[in-house]
Amino acid sequence: MIADRLKSIRDTLPSGVELVAVSKFHPAEAVKEAYDAGQRVFGESRAAELTEKTSQLPADIVWHFIGHLQTNKVRPVVAAASVIQSIDSERLLLAVDREAEKQGRRVDVLLQLHVAAEETKFGLTPDEACDLAERVVPQLKAVTVTGVMGMASNTPDDRERITADFRAIRATFDRLAAGALSGEPRFTVCSMGMSDDRDIAIACGSNMVRIGTDIFGMREY
Ligand SMILES: *Cc1c(COP(=O)(O)O)cnc(C)c1O
Repeated sequence: MIADRLKSIRDTLPSGVELVAVSKFHPAEAVKEAYDAGQRVFGESRAAELTEKTSQLPADIVWHFIGHLQTNKVRPVVAAASVIQSIDSERLLLAVDREAEKQGRRVDVLLQLHVAAEETKFGLTPDEACDLAERVVPQLKAVTVTGVMGMASNTPDDRERITADFRAIRATFDRLAAGALSGEPRFTVCSMGMSDDRDIAIACGSNMVRIGTDIFGMREY
């Protein structure tokens, strides 16, 4: 069943759009099913769950961390993740860089943008992201900023609002790519779109979607 769902999603994704299978709250067996169907890139949102799954699953899985990351959880996440998509403060960016250097690891990160209506969501404003890229990125030693990540407002009935949010994320990506990060050839990722809004995200210029429910079913919290 997971294999069928994966296939139908892959069949509809335009070429050039990468799929991150979001496996949070689903057991390692479910990840293994997707792995056996060819999926190699997975997303997790909690440090302990990521650590547990990396110990149980094949080593060639590329793990993306997509949840809010507290500085006291940076060590295990840097040890396990190839990409941290949820850099939402200068403090966190510097902490990840320091820890990656200490562990002798290279980590790719995305700047998480906050454009949605909900105050509760994490992330940098577009101006904060540009400021961070200008001031802090040149100092980084073990981390490469390879893109941005963002979520649209949780307004399923308001496609216009969702479209405006995704356009704002893409515009910030373009602004960084043409400006502060124009010297970084690996700055290429615009991660936006989840199960319910991926079509709008792709139409607005996403090249990485993060899909959980449509692959693994509903999460039980
Ligand atoms: C959980 C989560 C997803 C996946 O959401 P679905 O609606 O299950 O596809 C994507 N991105 C982030 C940041 C998430 O926390």
